[in-house]
Amino acid sequence: MKNNLFNDTESAFKLKKNFHIYNAVFLFNIITRKFLVSIFTNLTLLMLKLRLPIKWVLKNTIYKHFCGGINMSECNKIIYNMYELKVHSILDYSVEGLINESSFNKSCNKKINIINSVSKNNAIPFAVFKPTSIGRYELFKSVSLGIKLSKDQLDEWSRVVERFHKICEHAMKMKIKILIDAEEFEVQKAIDDLSVEMMKNYNKEKVIVYNTIQFYRWDRLAYLNKLFSIEIDRSFKFGFKLVRGAYMEKERDLAKINDYKSPICSSKNETDKNFDNGIDLMFSNIKNLSFFVATHNEKSNYKVLDLMKNNNLNNNTDKIWFGQLYGMSDNITFNLAKNGYNVAKILPFGPVENLVPYLIRRAKENSSFEGQSSRELSLLKKELIRRGS
Ligand SMILES: Cc1cc2nc3c(=O)[nH]c(=O)nc-3n(C[C@H](O)[C@H](O)[C@H](O)COP(=O)(O)OP(=O)(O)OC[C@H]3O[C@@H](n4cnc5c(N)ncnc54)[C@H](O)[C@@H]3O)c2cc1C
Repeated sequence: MKNNLFNDTESAFKLKKNFHIYNAVFLFNIITRKFLVSIFTNLTLLMLKLRLPIKWVLKNTIYKHFCGGINMSECNKIIYNMYELKVHSILDYSVEGLINESSFNKSCNKKINIINSVSKNNAIPFAVFKPTSIGRYELFKSVSLGIKLSKDQLDEWSRVVERFHKICEHAMKMKIKILIDAEEFEVQKAIDDLSVEMMKNYNKEKVIVYNTIQFYRWDRLAYLNKLFSIEIDRSFKFGFKLVRGAYMEKERDLAKINDYKSPICSSKNETDKNFDNGIDLMFSNIKNLSFFVATHNEKSNYKVLDLMKNNNLNNNTDKIWFGQLYGMSDNITFNLAKNGYNVAKILPFGPVENLVPYLIRRAKENSSFEGQSSRELSLLKKELIRRGS
């Protein structure tokens, strides 16, 4: 694959007016500086705590860049405009830190409502959910560690399993694919096991359920190889979303505090190699699975494109999807779409205050991995020069 597919900034930023690009340049200039991100984070949290009126400022700057809107109808224009350029959307209603049964039920029903509303919209082929939005984090942790549950906890866990079934079964009925997010190492085993259970139930004819594999974990290739060898009775197909992983610093701290070996690769290079090997593994089992490459890394995307070509797969095969977050790597997303590949943007939506943790993660992520945000900046500037602005 010619390594210049993602250099076309005209296609990448077709939907952005000059003032959107200036806003993005302003944001990424702040985000690339770690100390400014730290000031922004602390100041935002403090102002929200003191109930100072900063929602308007957030909404018109960082929120506007990374999020779709307060509700689904506010996202419609973005969804429509992106789909005109063959880019799909995945609506992500994000609420974090839920702790009680009524909020888990509410969150589960919200996912069902989203599936209902997107089911007739070709622009939105996937739905997504975070497992700890429908069950207690500590319970996922106990199940992952194999701790014996009390009668009440067993009942509670059966309600979590029920919610998983409810969402996945409904997705299958409405012909919407469902991405299950990956979370922290200490809760992930329970999520993995439940996700495979969902695949066995709902991936019989088509791949509906995709579990997420975090390749910053050094044990994931062994996990996948074991899964492929155990599940020899293939009455179902696998679905995976491939990511590097979002909780690296937290994982390293948790491992230190609790005195176990860090589950994270020791360097970025090792994570990259692991991700590459994961992609190879997907292609060697391609008959029995579908996958969703969720990355802003150009090399990883090019690798998949090369392998698709070598395996004689059509650009638009439903077996392979690409995805980036809204507000990031438009050069990858829009150029993939222009060349006929299946690609989607994750479009978070919801009240500004609910999305503050998500926005802080985006800011921190972009300040930690300097290469990525300076690439965003240079592409935005290149486009301004091309436009003569
Ligand atoms: C569509 C989509 C869905 C996502 N869903 C999830 C999800 O469900 N769960 C989840 O955890 N994340 C998820 N992510 C986030 C993802 O895991 C990454 O944090 C993010 O995409 C950055 O990785 P990259 O491959 O895009 O880019 P790159 O810039 O190439 O990689 C950055 C990543 O490399 C790893 N890394 C960086 N430095 C080191 C180091 N010193 N040692 C070891 N590893 C290192 C980290 O994982 C870091 O995030 C998602 C991302 C996208 C685009």
